[in-house]
Amino acid sequence: MTSSLRMTVIGCSGSYPGPASSASCYLLEAEHAGRTWRVLLDLGNGALGQLQKYSDATAIDGVFLSHLHADHCLDLCGYYVMRKYHPGGALPRIPVWGPVDSARRMAKAYDLDEDPGMNEEFDFIPYEGKPVEIGPFTVTAREVVHPVAAYALRVEVDGRVLAYSGDSGVCPGLEDTARDADVFLCEASFMEGAPNPPDLHLTGAEAGRTATAAGSRKLVLTHIPPWHDPDAVLAEATGQYAGDVALATPGTTYDI
Ligand SMILES: [Zn+2]
Ligand SMILES: [Zn+2]
Repeated sequence: MTSSLRMTVIGCSGSYPGPASSASCYLLEAEHAGRTWRVLLDLGNGALGQLQKYSDATAIDGVFLSHLHADHCLDLCGYYVMRKYHPGGALPRIPVWGPVDSARRMAKAYDLDEDPGMNEEFDFIPYEGKPVEIGPFTVTAREVVHPVAAYALRVEVDGRVLAYSGDSGVCPGLEDTARDADVFLCEASFMEGAPNPPDLHLTGAEAGRTATAAGSRKLVLTHIPPWHDPDAVLAEATGQYAGDVALATPGTTYDI
């Protein structure tokens, strides 16, 4: 691996899986201490299947959930099965960072008793406002505006920065996360001119304005729902941001 931080889009469909993509999931890889470390940002519905195209799904060191909407966390249910009942024996427990209620909510999603729930497979760790480290990755979660507790995630490896919006409206936490990022992976679920509810999602134009305000070096638009035309969302963003803008597509890899 030539780059210090590699991001592969596993799933980028907004709010639900589409014909071309599963819901949200991004694979991050970096070398550290003689091996490749792998973490996931989100594991939304449909993403576990697609992950297996791009990685040994058993070789994930940790998971970061932006929030507990189904399109960001629900395939943790399948991943629990894969790790618990693997024919080679149960796989080691791995950390899953997320909102404070993640362990209970995921147990409920699978209809498990809360004790043990998924706690024997996953070490659920709530975000506490300070950066966390796993292998080469330093991850800072900042609260953003969304109808449930939600976090934008800033991932740093050797000074290289990937910022991920999760789901967010326009807010200071989002802009702080994207500050001077090498790549700002930002949701654009809405389009201008529609009666968009506040504090829920971003339009392409708002994603572009946030990238400009934050000084992000590259903008990758994601979480576009199948009912919108991605090129129209892209055009909104390019009107507000002078840098390079791309549309996330499954299987695309960024060496950051
Ligand atoms: Zn979402
Ligand atoms: Zn959401």
